[in-house]
Amino acid sequence: MFKPFISANWKMNKNLEETVDFIKAFLPLTAGINDVDILIAPPFTSLSAAAGLLKGTNVKLGAQNVFYEEKGAFTGEISPAMLLSAGCTHVILGHSERRQYFHESDEIVNRKLKTARKNGLEVILCVGESLKEREDNKTFEVLDRQLSGSLGDGNLEGVTIAYEPIWAIGTGRTATKEQANEAHTFIRGWLKKHKEGAETVRILYGGSVTPENIASLMSEPEVNGGLVGGASLKPDSFAGIVTGARK
Ligand code: PEP
Repeated sequence: MFKPFISANWKMNKNLEETVDFIKAFLPLTAGINDVDILIAPPFTSLSAAAGLLKGTNVKLGAQNVFYEEKGAFTGEISPAMLLSAGCTHVILGHSERRQYFHESDEIVNRKLKTARKNGLEVILCVGESLKEREDNKTFEVLDRQLSGSLGDGNLEGVTIAYEPIWAIGTGRTATKEQANEAHTFIRGWLKKHKEGAETVRILYGGSVTPENIASLMSEPEVNGGLVGGASLKPDSFAGIVTGARK
């Protein structure tokens, strides 16, 4: 059985002060919970302050993006070494918002994943179909393309997959637990077919996860945790999700 993994994705929310306030309120709510891996991913500008507050606690720190080059003339980009020195252990890659608004292709995601892994950052790799693709019965085709393009010839060490159907992100329309489990089962099968070590990879569900629906989602055998946007912005709500994920 997998240890549940619950990650926040704050997106472009919370300044420094708000980050500090969140962490100070959140830590007591989840103190002593060691049977769930907990991660928060604030904006870059809050990472260093968050790292100071999270040091020695049960909550890890991740970033929402990283560049695929190690250093140099890439104005506005952030390298894996910068994230590590800011206290990150993880990075989220391939989020649908980055694919949609910043035109990140599977090839770019793959380059980022390779550089992140080479530098020792663990990766949460997001995949998922649009509503149109689901309605056209193309969900598995999309997952196949994204997994194969984003993972490339890389191995699965240090990689977590997040299945995030785009139609469920920020919409309040959660996939049913059966829909989530079906997609996760496909992903598990894909990983087993194409990669070594597929049995140890956690597959998170993302898309309008709340304290109310997390336990039901987690009751499915292939749902190993959650990637949480909106409901991770309030300490009590995110703590409720962490608590609800305990199996
Ligand atoms: C996300 O952005 O990764 C996400 C799942 O958002 P939300 O929980 O708000 O749907």
